[in-house]
Amino acid sequence: MNRWQTVKPEQKYTVLQFEREFPTDDACLEYVKERRWPDGITLCTKCGKERKHYRVTGRMAYACHACGNHIFPLAGTIFHKSTTSLRTWFYVIRLMASTRVGVSAKQIQRETGVTYKTAWRMMKQVRKLMGEKVTLSGPVEVDEAEFGGADSNKPKHLRGKAKMTALGIVERGGRVVARIVPNITALTLCGSIAEIVEPDAEVFTDLMHSYNPLGVQFRHQTVNHSERYVDGNAHTNTIDGFWSLVKRGITGVYYQVGAQYLQSYLNEYAFRYNRRKVMRPMFSLLAERTTQQVCPCAREQKLLGS
Ligand SMILES: [Zn+2]
Repeated sequence: MNRWQTVKPEQKYTVLQFEREFPTDDACLEYVKERRWPDGITLCTKCGKERKHYRVTGRMAYACHACGNHIFPLAGTIFHKSTTSLRTWFYVIRLMASTRVGVSAKQIQRETGVTYKTAWRMMKQVRKLMGEKVTLSGPVEVDEAEFGGADSNKPKHLRGKAKMTALGIVERGGRVVARIVPNITALTLCGSIAEIVEPDAEVFTDLMHSYNPLGVQFRHQTVNHSERYVDGNAHTNTIDGFWSLVKRGITGVYYQVGAQYLQSYLNEYAFRYNRRKVMRPMFSLLAERTTQQVCPCAREQKLLGS
């Protein structure tokens, strides 16, 4: 059985669990508030003191118990100023965290009733939560993948557009980094690898000349694909597996990806890949990030000081 198809029970976050935990918009708001200000206790800008804040009925706000000044848990988060219900947002996050090969805006439109455009925008925001900086240690496998495909398979308006190349680096049995590269020169590829992989690691690549300088910083091993695919320890099966997962997802679900979005799609796939063994549902990780990645310019008092 393909190991991707088995999800450990502790990693599962079922629809029923979700329904129980987040039955209403209020429950979602309470979640965000608790993550940002446990028990509603935070600095009241009006009193100048730490105060407890209570929910204001009918508004997405909590009020200081002493002076009544409002605070807004959603300010600065991806939910801020959205007219879509908070529960729909949480639903979309759950869907994107639980899928294996990706979910389409069309599916979100069908399941939640928002417009296609809204679904698409929400997914874009959730994908932002999935970006991260990762350093890999060896042994790692490296290989590039091309996106953009053959012209004969494309609708007319997409033909003749330049292909894009992404560099993939993966630890055996570990995490992956996938990033778009402007070209496949030695300078670009080896430079990216040096940024991501710890020095002195064992690095497996194919025989492409651009990888030759790797021997300076790493223990570089090559695989001759024209001869045989697996040469003892020297193979790139892990990264090939990741790329085939991404490609299946992008052609099957996303159909086609614009150049400006490819990186965020790659981040989405890498995020899920890197958490396939984490003993915790990806949903809770992502939901938590919505409350951690708060736009610093969006100070509650400045934004909505009512
Ligand atoms: Zn106050």
